[in-house]
Parts: sequence; structure tokens; C-alpha cells
Amino acid sequence: MEAMLLTAELYPWLFYLFVFVISLMVGSFLNVVIHRLPIMMENSWKQEYASYFDDTGSDSGSETGNDSAHTTNQNSESVDNQHTQETFNLAKPDSTCPCCGHKIRAWENIPIISYLFLRGKCSGCKAPISIRYPLVELFTALTCTFAAYYFGPTPQAIWAIVFTYILIALIFIDLDKMLLPDQLTLPLLWLGLILSTQSIFVGPVDAIIGAAAGYLSLWSVYWLFKIVTGKEGMGYGDFKILAAMGAFTGWQGLPVIILLSSVVGAIAGVALMVFQNKGKSLAIPFGPYLAVAGWITLFYKDTIISHYLEWALH
Ligand SMILES: [Zn+2]
Repeated sequence: MEAMLLTAELYPWLFYLFVFVISLMVGSFLNVVIHRLPIMMENSWKQEYASYFDDTGSDSGSETGNDSAHTTNQNSESVDNQHTQETFNLAKPDSTCPCCGHKIRAWENIPIISYLFLRGKCSGCKAPISIRYPLVELFTALTCTFAAYYFGPTPQAIWAIVFTYILIALIFIDLDKMLLPDQLTLPLLWLGLILSTQSIFVGPVDAIIGAAAGYLSLWSVYWLFKIVTGKEGMGYGDFKILAAMGAFTGWQGLPVIILLSSVVGAIAGVALMVFQNKGKSLAIPFGPYLAVAGWITLFYKDTIISHYLEWALH
């Protein structure tokens, strides 16, 4: 690691290029996570449900195998559900075209290049491949290269890049499914706390208070909103993601994140109203705004705070 960082210091462009290429590949993997993690969660909920409410429930603690018949409950309308009984995780089965089942070969899985080479179409059935896949790859690579550029070849850069990877998965899963999986938010929170012991971004006191205050602030808003309006404005995943943010940026980052996420939210809200059918009240997940705001805050917390104070005190 030391040698790597030293090389990176001597040849910064090599470091950026390295981060860019690695992040393209990680972005390709993130596409898999974004698509499969919610399905894996659904499958495990179904299994839990089946084993809990099973009529042969006398031996509820039984192994999974004998219940398999119950998970076949006729709803195999989507391709994904067919995998319920088979192994389905991030590594298996191999990716296939959802239209024709064509197995995606290694050369068809090179980030961005394959998409361009295939002209955005499946080589088997010519069904269009969503532009989102290469865009997620490119987005991951650009944001992480920015992190590398901002922090230079330092431990901060490496952890900011990991932070970015997890946030990108969270953003797109929340956009797709209105869901912020614990499998991502909680490790992000632990990571932030552990890094604080080495004062990578902030010290442990700031991080612990940040995590607790991040969780509690949205938790209070949630209950206040629920008591006043009887509706649920956000989910527990939102509290957890802000807790994780607080662990990375310290409690000082929280007001910045809240402020920025409302700005980002307002801009996105207006954009959605303009570009989509007006008057349609659609539920918009809050997680992506928090994630984008938290990401910006990790880099520009001090700049934003000092500018704000300068402006406020004049
Ligand atoms: Zn196909």
C-alpha cells in the first residue's frame, strides 16, 4: 500500500487512470448489486414469511428445504421469481438477456466499451440494453476519479471511493424500489465509525455524535410528521443513511447535509414536475437526496460552513 501510494504520488495521472478503470469495473458490479440485492431481499422475506406462517408451523424452526413448495406460489410472472428455488446471489446465476435468455459473455461485459460495440443491443435478440448500465459505470468512474483528484493518493481517497461505491448502489436501489437495504446502510455506518478511530475524515467523538444525531433527527421528524399528518413521510432506511453520513462527516456535517438535500430535492422536484405529467403526486424517495448531499458534504463541509458563516455574519 505504501509503495502504491508513493508511485501514485510520483505519477498522479497514473493514479487517476487506475481509479477510473477500477471504478468502471466496480460500476459494472454495482449494476448487478442494484438489480439483484432487492430480489435477494424479496426472496428471503418470502422464505421467512413462508416458514413463519406455514400451516405445518409446528416445526417452524425447520430447515429451509421442506418448505420449498410454498415459495412456488404461482407468481412466476417475472423472470426473477423463477430463481426463487435456485441459487440466486450476486455471483450466481450468470447474467442473461431478460428478453431471450442469451448468456452474457465476458467480452460483452466490458464496461461501456461493450455497450458501444454492441450499439446498445443484445447480440442474441437485438433487444435494446438499458442506457442506464453504461451510465452507472461512467458515473461511478467519474465521481471516484474526482475523489482521487480531491484527496490525492491518501487513505482518505481510498475510503471516499468506497463511500461513493456504496452510495451509488443505495441511490439507484432507492430510486427503483423505494428501499435502502440494511445490508448497505449498516456497513456504511460501521465503516464510518471505524474510520473515525483513525481520524480518517473526523475523530471518533464527532463521528459517534454525528451518527446518533443523524439517526435521531430524522427519526424525530418522522414521528412529528406522522403524529401531525397521520402519514409516513420517509422510512427507517433514511434515518440509517443519515446516521452513516454523520459517522463520515461528523455532527458538523449534518446541518449541511439537511440543507443541501432540501436544495437538491427542490431542484429535482421541479425538474420532475416539468418533465413528467404535472399534478401527479408521485412518491419520491428521500434517500438519493441525502446520499448526494452527504457525498458533497464529505468533500466540501468546511468550505460550505465557512462560506455560510461569512454570509450569515455580514
Ligand atoms: Zn437477448
